Amino acid sequence: MRSTAVTVFVAGHNGLVGSAICRKLRSSGVQPVVAERSELDLTRQSAVEAWFEEHSPTEVYLAAARVGGIHANNSSPADFIFENLAIQTNVIHAAWKSGVSKLLFLGSSCIYPKLAPQPMTEDCLLDGKLEPTNEWYAVAKIAGIKMCQAYRRQYGFNAISVMPTNLYGPGDNFDLETSHVLPALIRKFHEAKQSAAASVSVWGTGNPRREFLHVDDLADACVFLMRNYDDEDIINIGWGKDISIGELAALIRDVTEYGGELEFDSSKPDGTPRKLLDTSRINALGWSPGIGLREGIEGTYAWFVDSVDRL
Ligand code: GDP
Repeated sequence: MRSTAVTVFVAGHNGLVGSAICRKLRSSGVQPVVAERSELDLTRQSAVEAWFEEHSPTEVYLAAARVGGIHANNSSPADFIFENLAIQTNVIHAAWKSGVSKLLFLGSSCIYPKLAPQPMTEDCLLDGKLEPTNEWYAVAKIAGIKMCQAYRRQYGFNAISVMPTNLYGPGDNFDLETSHVLPALIRKFHEAKQSAAASVSVWGTGNPRREFLHVDDLADACVFLMRNYDDEDIINIGWGKDISIGELAALIRDVTEYGGELEFDSSKPDGTPRKLLDTSRINALGWSPGIGLREGIEGTYAWFVDSVDRL
């Protein structure tokens, strides 16, 4: 007989999101179960099913994914679509099959159409064409949402899907080829300051607008929704405001105390013109973010300076 104790599995515990969820759970007295990549390859169905049978988790945060910025998505489309489809299919199916009571699936705001009205409500899913630079990732995430909805309808499986906006924070990927804009600019400004370079290259025109949520706010929202949300409708998790890439670059220049110029490289893609989530649904449930952008960037920069030798 299964025990009635809660066993929480965080899939993807080494990533930006998974590690923040683990921190949040531990701070509230819950010790999550995790699986190292060397012990469990989430793209292998039989291995995932065997792991679930052995460990019998009761709650699952599905934060494992192949993620990356605009360049990585654009240049490795096969990896992005295969790994994400495989990981989420295996974990959702094994979770249902082994009797997990609730699963939270992490999606992304890039599931919404490129030209969706802003701010984007949950209802604009599948209402138009996707942004081509990340459609491989987006299509996989949409399949994950649909899988959660299908398992709820057919089997009564309590799987919910949450859509975070662009995230940042300690533990982010700072590799200039594969990272997202915020960690990339932190690294670029830091290195430019150290080498006293005259300017920093910012990709694109600087005009696209993005919303940035600190990953500790996201983790707080995920734990909140695990407790308070049981519906098939997807739910956005955002910060509520957006800024242009040019403004973001100026803010990071300020935080890193770099004295040189910004140079916009318009040979690099802008990607989608604007990405801001409508967060009325989660706000109405009683959750809102607590970490300001400057404060969040300052903390992330301090973490980067501390960790740069190990990255
Ligand atoms: P996106 O939100 O999926 O488009 O992904 P990114 O975070 O990678 O890029 C957001 C925007 O920032 C795009 O318009 C990029 O061209 C721009 N950007 C400016 N400088 C950089 C950089 O150094 N790295 C990345 N990844 N994006 C940058």
